[in-house]
Amino acid sequence: MTGFVFSEKPIRIERGEGVHLYDSAGTEYLDFGASYACTPVGHCHPEVVDAATSQLERLMYVQASYPNDARDALYETLADCGPGDADYVWLCNSGTEANEAALKFARSATGRQKIVATTRGFHGRTMGALAATWKDKYKKPFEPLAGGVEFVEYGDPDAMREAVDEETAAVIIEPLQGEGGINPVDTGYLQAVRVATATSGAAMVMDEIQTGLGRTGHMWASDRHDVVPDILTTAKGLGSGLPIGATLCREWIAEESGDHGSTFSGGPVVSAAAGTTLEVLQREGIPAHAAEMGDYLMGKVESRLGDEVRDIRGHGLMIGIEVKRGANRVLRDLAIEHDILALPAGRTVLRLLPPLVIEREHADRVVDALEAIMR
Ligand SMILES: *Cc1c(COP(=O)(O)O)cnc(C)c1O
Repeated sequence: MTGFVFSEKPIRIERGEGVHLYDSAGTEYLDFGASYACTPVGHCHPEVVDAATSQLERLMYVQASYPNDARDALYETLADCGPGDADYVWLCNSGTEANEAALKFARSATGRQKIVATTRGFHGRTMGALAATWKDKYKKPFEPLAGGVEFVEYGDPDAMREAVDEETAAVIIEPLQGEGGINPVDTGYLQAVRVATATSGAAMVMDEIQTGLGRTGHMWASDRHDVVPDILTTAKGLGSGLPIGATLCREWIAEESGDHGSTFSGGPVVSAAAGTTLEVLQREGIPAHAAEMGDYLMGKVESRLGDEVRDIRGHGLMIGIEVKRGANRVLRDLAIEHDILALPAGRTVLRLLPPLVIEREHADRVVDALEAIMR
């Protein structure tokens, strides 16, 4: 028997520490993909490991109808650091589940059905979140998916204003698209989405599963754009690699959220890991560090590789470099010749999502390697 969903890489990873991964032969890799933004404070951060292990020894699991200190602490920290008054927290196990809940809560709270999503958007692989995902490749073999989803051009405020009406339950949107190719939008656009949803009584669902937790140089990209959504979803790096997602809601959503549940919601071990991850992020000013490192890295890429690539875009440490030849060839050379791991976003875009604790020397190493490969 063998796993079959993922195609496997020829590197067997055994250990991680900070910004590095180590394979079975002892080779040290600089991790500029963070397994899709899953380690914002670095691999195996000692405080997170400590919090999870001591919780593991005390109580591995108790269902969420029994109050628990680790879970309560996480509720509080999430409500504290969440944007505006999105203080009501639903915990789950992954990003797609966080979005699934967001869409259910929005339908229940509004009593409406229509969902507006965007071209090139990605929201997950379960039937509901998948229905709001753009790419046909992910959807076609599994149809029919949840109904009632309408797509509008990402970045076009007029298309959004036209689509959002009195029948719209929710607009679901990434403040900077990840899977779709690292596509930023301006503040004016996201604020127009905020106004359109508020005016029509629809919920604005900000999918911050990739952009959140300091990635774009602010705790949430919503903060960067000064937008308070009705629902914000997070997952990926929340538990530093342990499986946890969250759906943060404003009161009007939480009040009428309907009947929802999940056996593993808010397990104490993942809650302890997530609470500690957030604590470290805030205490050490990691979002601001990500902003500084992002500016530095982006500036270097622009000055050294500007002529070799088609486009460079992103915010903070969520950076896309559109290359002239296939992204996968560059990624292979980075891994094999330079011991640097990164990610694609589509066929032509290199995606850099390092742990947010990188320093200038790491950024320099990546730029040197990219220059060697592309020249
Ligand atoms: C990864 C991702 C998801 C899905 O998260 P999973 O944990 O893989 O289910 C949803 N939305 C965005 C923006 C993502 O980047």
